Amino acid sequence: HRGAQLPPLPPAAGSRLQWKDAAKPLLALTIPLEALQAVKDRMLQAMRKGLSRQTHAQANVRMLPAYICSTPDGTEKGDILVVELCQSHVRTLRVTLLGDGNQSPQVTYKIFDMPGDITQGKGEALFDFIAQCLRQFLAGISSPQHRLPLGFVFPFSCRQTQLDKAELISWSKGFSCSDVEGKDVVQLLQSAIKKQELHHVDVVALMNDTVGTMMTCSMRGEPCEVALIVGTGTNSCFMAEAQLVEMAEEISGQMCVITEWGCFGDDGTLSDILTPYDQHVDQESFNPGEKRFEKLVGSLYLGEIVRHVLTALVAEKVLFTGRSVAILRTKDVLKTQQVLEIINNEEGMAKARRVLEALGLQPSEQDCCRVQQICRAVVSRAAALCAAGLAAILSHMCQSQELERLVVNVGVDGELYRGYTSVTGLLAPECMATLLPSVDGTGQGAAVVTAVALRLAAQRHEVDQLLAPLQLSRADLERVQALMRREMELGLGLESHANASVRMLPTYVRGTPDGTERGEFLALDLGGTNFRVLVVRVAQDGIRMASEIYVIPTAVMQGTGEALFNHIIECIMDFQLKQNLLEQVLPLGFTFSFPCQQLGLDKAVLLSWTKGFSASGCVGQDVVQLLREAAQRKQHLGLKVVAVVNDTVGTMMSCGYDDPKCEIGLIVGTGTNACYMEEMRNVGTVEGEQGRMCINMEWGAFGDNGCLDDFFTDFDRLVDEKTINAGKQRFEKLISGMYLGEIVRHILLALVEKQLLFRGKPCPKLQTRDIFQTKFLSTIEIDGLALQQVRAILQDLELQASFEDSLLVQKVCQTVSLRAAQLCAAGLAAVVEKMRENRGLAQLAVTVGVDGTLYKMHPRFSQHLQQMLRDLAPNCTVTFLQSEDGSGKGAALVAAVAALLRTSDS
Ligand code: ADP
Ligand code: MG
Repeated sequence: HRGAQLPPLPPAAGSRLQWKDAAKPLLALTIPLEALQAVKDRMLQAMRKGLSRQTHAQANVRMLPAYICSTPDGTEKGDILVVELCQSHVRTLRVTLLGDGNQSPQVTYKIFDMPGDITQGKGEALFDFIAQCLRQFLAGISSPQHRLPLGFVFPFSCRQTQLDKAELISWSKGFSCSDVEGKDVVQLLQSAIKKQELHHVDVVALMNDTVGTMMTCSMRGEPCEVALIVGTGTNSCFMAEAQLVEMAEEISGQMCVITEWGCFGDDGTLSDILTPYDQHVDQESFNPGEKRFEKLVGSLYLGEIVRHVLTALVAEKVLFTGRSVAILRTKDVLKTQQVLEIINNEEGMAKARRVLEALGLQPSEQDCCRVQQICRAVVSRAAALCAAGLAAILSHMCQSQELERLVVNVGVDGELYRGYTSVTGLLAPECMATLLPSVDGTGQGAAVVTAVALRLAAQRHEVDQLLAPLQLSRADLERVQALMRREMELGLGLESHANASVRMLPTYVRGTPDGTERGEFLALDLGGTNFRVLVVRVAQDGIRMASEIYVIPTAVMQGTGEALFNHIIECIMDFQLKQNLLEQVLPLGFTFSFPCQQLGLDKAVLLSWTKGFSASGCVGQDVVQLLREAAQRKQHLGLKVVAVVNDTVGTMMSCGYDDPKCEIGLIVGTGTNACYMEEMRNVGTVEGEQGRMCINMEWGAFGDNGCLDDFFTDFDRLVDEKTINAGKQRFEKLISGMYLGEIVRHILLALVEKQLLFRGKPCPKLQTRDIFQTKFLSTIEIDGLALQQVRAILQDLELQASFEDSLLVQKVCQTVSLRAAQLCAAGLAAVVEKMRENRGLAQLAVTVGVDGTLYKMHPRFSQHLQQMLRDLAPNCTVTFLQSEDGSGKGAALVAAVAALLRTSDS
């Protein structure tokens, strides 16, 4: 189809031939919808080029980060000064923000005309002038003497690296002061202000006029995330996903980007839509070849385009025939303002006549009509091109936020905005943009940016203070490592064993698998989220298994021991029935992941329940015996328990089957624990000096004797108090899946209380225990996850999060999971260092078999753990091997090893 943006041509006037000639430029100025679509696509490409670090330097559309990360939320408050540098004047404002989104701010302002030569003179003079304006302004209002923050609106391309640090890249719009390009404009203004002895005025933010417009429009209710300026020049800005703005080192949240799209087309990409008239305009400008898009759109040029079209029509003899038209050779005789008046529906014709007559052109009725058509074509084209640019921005936002549909407000300044929405709608149908014309310029927006900057800085400080106790230094972690080492020694010693918080339980597992194990086994896995029964076949060609998950209801976990073990037997019987195994008596390995005093491979006295279990009558009993008794009660006679193992041991054994270096087992799931191969001579609690034995550390209880008290925060104490084993498993409660979400929840509550999150609004849902699951940490911390998605997760919890809120929640999650990983590393460092010393090695190479959903699913945990371990134990080369189904496989392997040992014994 044809271009949708042009008004229909009027009925033919004059001869056919003449009409055709007159219509030629109109056709050239008409951009069909397909071509506009192509312009939009090229704009999108150019924008991507500007955003990418690799291609940024060659990009025409520079996509400059503005270091503005959020739109105002209405809570901004205080007295703010604003200085706006405009085309021919300086505007100073004092804006009093009331901190109540609904009330408009109080504004006092004064405009100072600039002496004509100052824009071409010395930079210093320009900034001195601005500072003088400010001093005069402050003298005229009763300005307080306390610190006054100032926002500076500076409408030129800057390389910004912070909100208050911006190097001018190059002057434009007729400015060319010396000694400013390449310099930090904030500093130049601040020192000029000092010279005026305004010592209480601090320049805290610099922004472009597009940003000011976006912010001003944001103050009227809904946030506005895009702004367009079509004034003398043209430019736009929008809120982008920060990680896409590679030139800014921010990776999370949003970042306002100034497109600098005036230069779009400087590499020739617009050549197919440029008309001969545009080429003339460009050649006669002071910067030929540059700012090609701006020259199609900006008001500095529209009058000139019309003048060149008129000149061409005169040459074709279809306009002003027989009149003297020399005046049309004079640059800038037609002003854009006049063009805009001529296109007016009611008074446009009269205006055209007046303008043309003033130029001495004596227009006929038909001349006036044609001139109006041309003006309309030029303005419509500018609007259509702007709409294509806007469509590119909207589609980019929509894609990068992974939305199916984008609904957004667009702040606009300049007179050309009327035509935008319909064309934008055609070009980016997936986006719904509402244009908000800016009525009060950029000043209020600038004040808000300044206030936001102040508020964020103050909040950041408070958040840092609140999170500081959770941030462990290298020295802290070395201390944890040393304490763990001490507790290990205590736990191994016959005399000291009773007083150690790390119990160091012997497992009677004396070796890891060697690959010769064979047979068919039953296995039980109890002690985690799921209770499972398995059948495992260990054969020459590997291990095969089948399993079934059974639920243990909380009532059974926390009821009587009899009921618990009855339930377990019922599950085994159900499994055997399903697997057709009821007739066989298979050796059974029992993975029982609670601290046990083991008296033999098949004799394990429960020392205490953990992880939410509390069945009565079990502590102090041999769990194998409890299982056998239940089997008897249920008349299940074919049960032959040969080994009880902890899940850490199972994990080590199953990884050991694939890697003989695997001599450590680690679990980071619901709980956390570790085991490793210790020298028998160091195990004071078991007779014998020869060989090694696997020690189940039960390190979850590390710190239960108070040795970690310095590291616990208020949040940890709150979490601990609400557990069924308060005061116990203190190390575990800093690290494992059952607790991390709870720690985060308590921190979020504290942040809300301090008005640092969710605008301080009380969140009833957040009061609910366990509502913030540890798996949310994994999702929220995924690298490059659009914050929109974080917001969606929080929304499911009925938490209305702004982007800043989402960022803060992400930061809290990162802090908590980082601490967990680092503490885990400190514990492991103690283990590997001890093994290295045991063996008298300068360098130890060892593999850790790991299991647990937190370790496996969290996007950063394993990385942080391994990195910290390298730092803390530089003489150990530690490989991590994730176990697949370690608990089940491992129990079978222990049973197999036991069976082998038994045959070799006899
Ligand atoms: P267990 O340790 O009980 O044998 P898992 O290793 O599966 O079982 O760990 C379960 C724990 O992992 C749960 O307590 C839960 O908090 C945590 N978890 C579940 N999904 C995730 C996830 N995607 N990211 C991090 N932690 C998770
Ligand atoms: Mg498990």
